[in-house]
Formats: sequence, C-alpha cells, structure tokens
Amino acid sequence: MTPKRKREERWRSEVISRLGLDFLDLNDEEVKEICELVYEMIPRKTSFKAYFERISRKREKILPLIISHLLEKRGVRDERELEFYVTYGDRAIIPHTSLIYFEAKKHGRKDIIALLRDLWLRNNIGFPIRCPHCAFPSVSPRFECIVCGKVLSEEEVKEAIDFKTLLKVYSETSEEEEIKRILEQGYIFYCGEDGLTSKPRMGKHCYLLELTSEENRILRRRVKYVKQ
Ligand SMILES: [Zn+2]
Repeated sequence: MTPKRKREERWRSEVISRLGLDFLDLNDEEVKEICELVYEMIPRKTSFKAYFERISRKREKILPLIISHLLEKRGVRDERELEFYVTYGDRAIIPHTSLIYFEAKKHGRKDIIALLRDLWLRNNIGFPIRCPHCAFPSVSPRFECIVCGKVLSEEEVKEAIDFKTLLKVYSETSEEEEIKRILEQGYIFYCGEDGLTSKPRMGKHCYLLELTSEENRILRRRVKYVKQ
C-alpha cells in the first residue's frame, strides 16, 4: 500500500469510527461514499486532530445526511440499524417513513412507530385524514395511505372524518344555493380544516365524496328542492 493510500485509509476509518458507524459493517464502496459526503460538508483543510475534533462536535448535524444516504442505498438491515436511524436521522428519515414504518412493525417496535408519527406531526407533513390502519395522517385524496399502502373504501374515509356529523352541521350552516348545487352534482368535497365544500379548494388536499341516499336526505331536509 502506498503512503498516500495508507493515509487515506486512516482518515476514512477515523471518519467511520467518530461518527459511530462501525457497527454497520460497511463495505469499501460505502465507506468511500460516506467519507466523500463528510469531506463535502467539512473540507479537510486542517490537521488530522483538529479535523476529527470538528467531526465529533458536528456529529449530530452530519448524521442525518449520512442516514438519508444509507436508507436510500441499502435500506434497514436489522433492529439496531433501525434504532440508530430513528435516533439520529431527524427530518432526513421523513421521505423514508413507509420503509421505516414496515421495519418497525416487523420488529414489534411500537415506540419507533410513535416517534415516527410524532416527527410527521411536528413537521406538518401529511394529509388531513388519519389512516385507520396505521394511524398516520397519511390518506391521500385518492384514498391511498402513503405510509402503509392500504387503499381505503369511501365508507372508511367517511368514518375517519365523522362525515355524518360534518354533513349535519354543514346542512344547518350553509346557504340554500350551495346545498342545491351539491344535491345536483351528487358529491361533496372534504378539504381538511376548510371542512365540506361544493368545489375543491385551491392549494388544499380535497377528497371527493359521493353522497348516499341517506346523506342526500340530510341535505334535502334543509331545502325545498327535490331532485327528480
Ligand atoms: Zn396507513
């Protein structure tokens, strides 16, 4: 091994050890990639000692980027990795929520699922409808949960938002014209905090909900209009 190569190996192995990544059993390619990411963030302009003091101080800022890279490249291999990623990944793990959710479920780690959900809520991510299967606010307007992948039926969506109560309140507080429009079109939109509307709201996640005959009756009670 040339002295230059030897020196490089020493730096690389120190990066991995200072960041606490030894347990990951990284291959040479992975080590190289991680070190390149670290050198990009903190250029090697100082002495070995000063450099690694800096790495140790900035460890918690560096780790999320490395974790995002590892999740992308190799996923989660065991429970220890899972714990490490969740502890140090911070917001960087959000794009990998679905993957981490399933890993946590596999290992029976309800605590990790709760942490993950908390991270979502703190960062205002997701949709206004909570999934009845995984309890994340993650049901898309196509009724598909972007965390656990389940597709909800229209009944499940309505139940999740207590549609019947919303519709009653809506029918009592809305203009007659608006209600007539909904009866004519046969559907209504649920737009999160904006509630029920006859048209989708710009910039909001809106869910189209068809009205059953019973729901139609709730609205009809409020107007003299009867659809033929
Ligand atoms: Zn779900």
